[in-house]
Parts: sequence; C-alpha cells; structure tokens
Amino acid sequence: MAKTHNLGFPRIGAQRELKFALERYWRGESSQQDLTNTAGALRRTHWQQQGKLDAVPAGDFSFYDHVLDTSFLVGNVPDRVADHQDNTLDNYFRVARGRSANDTGCQCVHAGEMTKWFDTNYHYIVPEFTAQTTFCLHAESLLAQIEEAKQTGVQAKPVLVGPVTYLWLGKEKDASNKLDLLDELLPVYQSLLSTLAEQGVEWVQIDEPILVTELAPAWQTAIKTAYQTLSQTNVKLLLASYFGEQAENRQLAQSLPVDGWHLDAIRGRGDVASYQEALGDHQVLSLGVINGRNVWKTDLNATLAWLEPIHQALGDRLWLAPSCSLLHVPVDLTSEHKLDPEVKNWLAFAHQKLDELDVLANALNHGKQSVQQALADNRQAIESRQQSPRVHNPNVQAALAAITPHLGKRQRPFAERIRLQHEQLNLPRFPTTTIGSFPQTSTIRQTRLQYKKGEIDAVTYQDIMRKEIAHAVDKQEALGLDVLVHGEAERNDMVEYFGEQLDGYVFSQFGWVQSYGSRCVKPPILFGDIERPKAMTVEWTQYAQSLTDKPLKGMLTGPVTILNWSFVRDDQPRSQTCNQLALAIRQEVQDLEKAGTKIIQIDEAALREGLPLRRSEWQHYLDWAINAFKIAANGVSDETQIHTHMCYSEFNDIIASIADMDADVITIETSRSDMELLDAFDHFDYPNDIGPGVYDIHSPNTPTQAQIVGLMNKAAARIPEERLWVNPDCGLKTRQWDEVIPALENMVAAAKTLRQ
Ligand code: GLN
Ligand code: ZN
Repeated sequence: MAKTHNLGFPRIGAQRELKFALERYWRGESSQQDLTNTAGALRRTHWQQQGKLDAVPAGDFSFYDHVLDTSFLVGNVPDRVADHQDNTLDNYFRVARGRSANDTGCQCVHAGEMTKWFDTNYHYIVPEFTAQTTFCLHAESLLAQIEEAKQTGVQAKPVLVGPVTYLWLGKEKDASNKLDLLDELLPVYQSLLSTLAEQGVEWVQIDEPILVTELAPAWQTAIKTAYQTLSQTNVKLLLASYFGEQAENRQLAQSLPVDGWHLDAIRGRGDVASYQEALGDHQVLSLGVINGRNVWKTDLNATLAWLEPIHQALGDRLWLAPSCSLLHVPVDLTSEHKLDPEVKNWLAFAHQKLDELDVLANALNHGKQSVQQALADNRQAIESRQQSPRVHNPNVQAALAAITPHLGKRQRPFAERIRLQHEQLNLPRFPTTTIGSFPQTSTIRQTRLQYKKGEIDAVTYQDIMRKEIAHAVDKQEALGLDVLVHGEAERNDMVEYFGEQLDGYVFSQFGWVQSYGSRCVKPPILFGDIERPKAMTVEWTQYAQSLTDKPLKGMLTGPVTILNWSFVRDDQPRSQTCNQLALAIRQEVQDLEKAGTKIIQIDEAALREGLPLRRSEWQHYLDWAINAFKIAANGVSDETQIHTHMCYSEFNDIIASIADMDADVITIETSRSDMELLDAFDHFDYPNDIGPGVYDIHSPNTPTQAQIVGLMNKAAARIPEERLWVNPDCGLKTRQWDEVIPALENMVAAAKTLRQ
C-alpha cells in the first residue's frame, strides 16, 4: 500500500487568523495566552483537515518563520536579545522584527536580516553565525507540538530543517567559516533525534533543499558527515529535497545511510528512476507528485499512468506527497465564491491538493474503480482547461509567432538617442525625478475601495482621483522637480492593477500566501493567453500631462515583474507567458507615445528574484527575461526616453544583462548601502543614464541636502556626471506627504548645488 503524507501546511489560516492574532498581540491588544490559544487551535484544525493522510507534519507551524524556529531550537539566539529577561516568545519576535508587544525604546533591537527562501516569495530570518556561536537544544516547543498532534489523534511526523541547509542559509557575522560549526551542531541534532525517539516518534522528515543547488565540495562533504552521524539514532530519517532536481548531488544523496528520501517529482522527475533502482528493501521513496508551487489541478490520470509501474515495483516502499511544503499555496479554494466558475474548476489550493493525493493513493491501493468519479471529474477539468478558448487565443498566438529580433531593438545606439532626447526634453544636468507613486492617503484608499464595492460611480471616482493627480502635480511643480509623475493614486498594487485590465487573469478573494511573518500576498492568477483589450494608463497620464509643461513620465510595470509576482500557467514555458505580457505592455507603451508621452518608465522590481536556483541556468533566464523587457520597451521612436526601475542594485553578477536592457535611464536602490552597491559599476562600464537612489524611502528620516550631495559625489566618482539622475530609492506610496515634501526639497536643492 502506498502511503500519503504532507511536508508542511500553510500556517497563516484560511482567513489569515494567525496574522490577525499576531498583530493584535504586537499592538498590545491581546495577551500571549490569547496568541498561543489561537496558534494551538489553528494547528489542531490543520491536523484534522489533513486527517486522511497516513502521516501529517508536526513542527511545520511557526509564529513567524521556520528558520528562525530552528535557530531557537538549536539555541542560536543572537546576543542582542540574550539579556532580555522575559519569555522566549518575546525574544523570538525581537529577533524577527526588532520588537515584541509593549516593547519600548531600550527593549527594541535590530531585527534579523530577512531573505528569500530559495526561489519562493517566502522570506526567512537569516541565522547569524560567528566564531563564538555555540548550540544547545531547546526542544520544548517542538515536543509540545508533537504531543498536541498525538492528542488530536493524527500520526505526526516531525519536520526539521536539516543541519547543513541550516548552516547554508545563515550568514557569518565575522571572518569565521560557518561550516566549521557543523561539528558543534550535529550533537544537538543527535540529541534532538534521540529525544524524539524516546517520545515514540517513528519517522522524522529532515529537509535538505540545498541538495538541488550547485554545492561546493566542502558542502557535499558536510552532507555526508551529517547523515553518517545522524543515522546512528533510533528514529527513521526521511531526507527531503525539493524545488528542483538533485542532479550532480544525486549520487551523494543516494549514498547516505538514511531510511528514505523525498524527491520533488514535479521539478526533479529526472532523479526518480535512479532512486527507484537503488532503493533498499527497508527504505522508502516519497514522491512529490502534486505541485506545491502552483494553483493548478494535477492531471491525476497522467500522474497515475506514470506512478503505476513505480508502485508495482516499490509497493509499500512508495510514499506520495506534494512536491514541497504547501506553505507556498493558498489554503482553500472552497472559500472562493466570486471566482469565475470555469477557471475555478481548473484550480486546486492546499486542501484540494491533499484531496488529489488521496485520490491517487486510493487508485493505486484499491484500484481506479474505487475513485472512478473523482478521476472522471479530473479528466473533464483538465480537458476543459486544455481546450478552452479562454486559455487559447488565436490572436495572441499569431502575435507571438510574429515576434522578430527587431521588435526588441531601438533604431539608434544610446549615444545618438540621448542626444535626440536632450534636444526634445531640454532637461538640466542632474535631472530630478521620483519613482512613480506618491503617498497613498486614506482618502485615496477609501475611494478605491468604495468604487470597487460599487458605492460610488465611475464619474465620482474619476473626479476624486483626478484631484489627487492634480495635487501630486502641483506639489511636484512647487518642488521644482524636472520630470514629473502622476502619482499612481488609482493603483492598489503594481501587478494587480495591470492584471485586472488584461484578459487572461483572475483574482482570488482569499488566496493569501505568507510572504514574511504576518505579511501575506495574494498573487493574481494568470490562466490564459494575455491580451490587452484597451489602453490601461493613457487617460490618467494624459490628464496629468495636461496640467504641466514639464515632461510627465508614463508609468508601467514590466512583463518580468508581472510574471514573477503572479501564479502563472504550467502548460507553457514561463518565457512564452512573459512574451505575451511583453506584447501587451508594448502596446501600452506605444499608445502612451502616441498620446504625447515623451518619457515612459517600465518597472522591473522583480527581475532579479526570478533568477533560477542553479547558476548554470541564470543566463538562459536572463536572456528571455531581458528580451521580453526589450520587446515591451523598444517599440518607440528614439526620441522617446525609456526608463526602468529596480528596487535593489545587487547587480555585480548580472550587470551585463542589465546593460543589455538598453533602457535610456535606470533608477536603482543604493542609498541604504551608502552607494556601496555601485561597486558593480567599478568593473563594468555601464553605458546609459543612471539614477542611484539618494533617499531611503523605507525610513521616515529626512535626508539632508549635504547627505544627498555626498552620495551623488560618490556616484560621480564611478559614473560620468552627465549621465547621472537624482531620485529617491523607490516609490513614495508608503510615506506621508509631510515626510515626502522636506525630503524632496532637499533633493532638489542638492541637485542645484551639484549643477553649480
Ligand atoms: N513605480 C512604482 C512606485 O513608485 C515602483 C514600485 C516598486 O519598485 N516596487 O510605487
Ligand atoms: Zn522600487
């Protein structure tokens, strides 16, 4: 009999219960007891909901982040919270976010650094290591959860971040080498596993997702050492990898003396055959056959056809699971009452994915007849999606087929273009501009909400928004900025705003996915060929331009960012979906140009985060992504100036591709690092104009004129000053007008000083 299990369940709750409980606690509106009660109730609910599985995960719950949990589990707590006398949970929140409930001044500490969990949009708190780091087991919380699971009546399988992945995810805070800490860390894991064995735990899932990355020899050795040591305990170890293929690490992983392996059979199917062959009589192979990274129904019939011979060969030794933790998908499709029913029938969220798993196991264990109806329904849904004219649009297919290399090219090289643009725009040296959005006041948010709910009509909505635009233009005129923006008042979100106006998108109401801590995102769902029925931004931009003689920059989100921040189709390569988005944005760019817009900015905030886990795959991604941007951007005359913006500037490794985008102007984040991020430009002659952000919009502090001049001088040491722009780091929508005005006044004054 094939067994079913799950690697992890979303913690936040179908209605984001954990988010609200956490935020109430942090605001001092509820007690820690209230918070832990909510957490306990959620865990029990989630276990019950997974009750059909042969084993459910325990220890996958987290108040903030499972990597931070691991730091606390192994006693790696930063010194800066160590002398806080009160309880662990408050200290945990201090590391997570700088403060806990009721903390004042002296109790606040700097928050741990946060970064992305592999290639997902989930952020973890980076473990901190120094030469002095020691470890010590604190298993109380994990053991309590295992006990709780037992009482709920489920078969709990504890889930741990493996020791080598844990070290790999962390950061050395001094000159030490974190790998040297492995010898110290392993005994803690050993005693944890022994404790679990004493508690009657049979299987432990131990996650080493680094096995799908390109590992240096020292890390491969660490894996070997770790599992030779850990296999000497009395629990059975299921070594899990996901998010890709083990490829060149496969032999190593297979040689480890563990009791079973979990493989990502969606993205790493190539590993499966060799595992099947080598599997020992007492070992198990868990196959992640349900995609834990997207929202589509699994083709159950096709999956079964693939699984049947494997099941025949392995029998009891075959386990079935989602490819990875379900943390990365929304919780429950049944709460979606407004979704288009046709599209809804193609989708599966966490609950539905576990139901699919159950169908697969029943079909294998009890014959297909036992789940005949479910299989027939699934076949119907898969076929309906494959054949739907809503997915396949011949116009879009024809436009895709007509893409030629010249679509992505400007007519003249930058040096000639910029001369034409200067003639037409007549901007001073060190031109000043902003990144697009101005403060999203409560009036703006309320108006948008009222309009969405149908409480105000389109005319009233437009009037109010036009007033906001006029206000933003007035302010910019008064400040003396050189290139103005309309302020993006009408936009809730830089991706959703465009998705809502494109054919091929749907939006869930509750499709939340944890991004970090209590923060969730609700990615739009791109299900079909992308077509732009009509212009999306032209009216607003034209209206704003009518209010000023200064050039007003049109503002768009680029195809790569729209792609990377959506759930996208799995029935065609991402590159193809990206090209469809590019064609839609290209039409918008051309319409803006026709309407008289002389400067158009296309934001690619999420370009870098789409980089594949394996470096060897980077260039392929960059090639198609940059090409999509160029298709979107470069259908204009050489007089039209194209800007792009990125919220980071860790460009060292991709600077050549950034230059290939051939945007006339790029604005980037740099102020927080004191222009250090411009190091990339030391070794690479970036050819076009650039605006290194001089004002950290993430902070409420006002930068002084002298600070800004200082930063610009650092930039001028690397980039010829005639190619420099002066602008903030990012959009200003999260700030207040009374913060923005003095900061921009100083910025404009700084530009004037620089011109002298
Ligand atoms: N134009 C957008 C804004 O100003 C850019 C946002 C971003 O880069 N994340 O809000
Ligand atoms: Zn930004």
